[in-house]
Amino acid sequence: MKMQFSSGGVIYRKVHDSIEIALVAVKGGSVWTLPKGIVNKGEKPEETSVREVLEETGLNGRLIEKIGETTYWYFLKEENAKVKKTVYYYLLEYVSGDTSDHDWEVDDAAWFPIDEALRRVSYKGDKDMIVKVREMITAVPPAGGACG
Ligand code: ATP
Repeated sequence: MKMQFSSGGVIYRKVHDSIEIALVAVKGGSVWTLPKGIVNKGEKPEETSVREVLEETGLNGRLIEKIGETTYWYFLKEENAKVKKTVYYYLLEYVSGDTSDHDWEVDDAAWFPIDEALRRVSYKGDKDMIVKVREMITAVPPAGGACG
């Protein structure tokens, strides 16, 4: 058994009154997922998150806070080994950049309204992170101070 640690991000921006997040397409464009990559030696997971989001989507983000993590297993043919992979996810606020500058390693990168992104992603772990982000971003304190 082999263990891998990656780090990814949900980068968001506000467009009028709606929230958009960026996804990347992989596997010939058939799977939309959150950007992520291996945590390099000497790198903090939050640094990996900002770096991988920039590399894969072309978008520069400001680190806000950790969202959570997800774990899955897969089989690595080249090493004939089962891999237990943990991916840490961070919330990033969009600063600059364009999805047309996405990495050649992904098939596409694009902004989606958060509810559409939730429908597009295939992996359960991605869905969980996006649901959490929706709660984190929309958890605005009620206007006018105290309630009740
Ligand atoms: P990284 O982006 O961390 O460098 P990678 O591209 O080498 O990773 P993964 O994206 O982890 O590899 O893909 C390895 C296998 O795990 C693939 O079969 C993929 O379909 C599957 N996989 C990828 N992401 C998830 C996920 N969030 N949940 C479950 N399975 C996943």
